Amino acid sequence: MKTMNCKQLGGACEKKFQANSFDEIAEMSKQHGMEMFQKQDESHLKAIHEIQELMQKPEAMKEWFENKKIEFESLPEGNYSPLRSEIKQKSS
Ligand SMILES: [Zn+2]
Repeated sequence: MKTMNCKQLGGACEKKFQANSFDEIAEMSKQHGMEMFQKQDESHLKAIHEIQELMQKPEAMKEWFENKKIEFESLPEGNYSPLRSEIKQKSS
């Protein structure tokens, strides 16, 4: 389980998403983006607009997506559960 926030995923707030795969977390941020779009949240509308502009250029979009994926992959596992690492230390 890894954590990324809305901003890290091209959004506009600090809302955290947790998922096991990048596809999953991308889907969660998409859902959140759509919710914010419906609420007409100004900062998210701006972020969505930027993504939409990026989508006009498939190559740039692909690169952006790949970079985010690498960022996700390089995150430590379960970085928001310090308890787990404590257990690990005790058992080893
Ligand atoms: Zn957000």
